[in-house]
Amino acid sequence: MRLGDGRELGFGSLLLATGADPIRLELPSTAGARIFYLRTIADCRAILAALNSAKTAVIVGTSFIGLEVAASLRARGIEVHVAGLDRVPLERVLGPEVGSFVQALHEQHGVTFHLGQSATRVDGTQVTLTNGRTLQADLVVLGVGVRPAIALAETAGLTVDRGITVNEYLETSAPGIFAAGDIARWPDPHSGERIRVEHWVVAQRQGQVAARNILGSRQPFAAAPFFWSQHYDVAINYVGHADKWDAIVIEGALSSHDCAVSYRKGERTLAVATIGRDLANLRAERLLEAQVAPVGA
Ligand SMILES: Cc1cc2nc3c(=O)[nH]c(=O)nc-3n(C[C@H](O)[C@H](O)[C@H](O)COP(=O)(O)OP(=O)(O)OC[C@H]3O[C@@H](n4cnc5c(N)ncnc54)[C@H](O)[C@@H]3O)c2cc1C
Repeated sequence: MRLGDGRELGFGSLLLATGADPIRLELPSTAGARIFYLRTIADCRAILAALNSAKTAVIVGTSFIGLEVAASLRARGIEVHVAGLDRVPLERVLGPEVGSFVQALHEQHGVTFHLGQSATRVDGTQVTLTNGRTLQADLVVLGVGVRPAIALAETAGLTVDRGITVNEYLETSAPGIFAAGDIARWPDPHSGERIRVEHWVVAQRQGQVAARNILGSRQPFAAAPFFWSQHYDVAINYVGHADKWDAIVIEGALSSHDCAVSYRKGERTLAVATIGRDLANLRAERLLEAQVAPVGA
């Protein structure tokens, strides 16, 4: 393996964990436009520095990054507009009920949504939306998704498919080379599909499993994916993975921030999102994992 400074390193095993990069929008802009992405601590510091003189912000993207940035900026007293192509924020991941709940939560905290809209250009502090409307923005934050950073894997000739393809041991098409985290697409025993997810806990657990396998274990990665998302004082905990579902079953009430939302396909529960019910979330994780292999087996 060759490093950027030209040095060459030999290896017995190699782990690729290069994560993902924000998708960049080709957004025409003039001088004075302050456009940011958020992936690294440097990105975060740049946004915070821009806030010193800012009163208004436009966020493009109604998924997790966009909405969590919205909540953070509202906490700092910034006027926030969020534009996004989706009809309901987060609908594709969490369904219309939870998505509408999250939208209402943000609206209660003063966020204005422009749904079915993207930004077409930024002129100084003016953002133009697809419908022609212009919004004032001292800063613009773009949160329109990420792409797995697979250039290294492609150069190395590894099998890639919208991520690096790995087997259940997180080993790539080249024996001895492993991949974990946002770049890895693995055979998920819960959904029966090859999936790639962008969750902190998945990256952490995959790192642990890959390390054990590098050390000689043959441990399949079978953990149910888990993430949390914080909006003001509401944390949504989600376990499992549901791209599509037949039915959404809500126990409790979203409005009282006390519920468990199950995403079901036929007889199977694919995923469970909870608000204010951490124990139920842990039990759901255990049940999901038991559907694949008996606990303790
Ligand atoms: C703002 C933000 C908020 C988030 N909030 C949540 C959340 O609430 N819950 C949740 O579950 N997940 C959240 N995530 C997602 C979570 O952070 C990622 O899923 C996780 O960091 C993935 O870990 P990773 O190790 O695969 O990649 P990363 O954390 O991206 O780490 C990859 C590392 O590899 C380095 N790298 C890349 N290419 C090269 C190269 N060629 N050579 C050397 N080094 C390289 C990068 O610089 C980086 O340090 C959030 C992400 C962001 C950006």
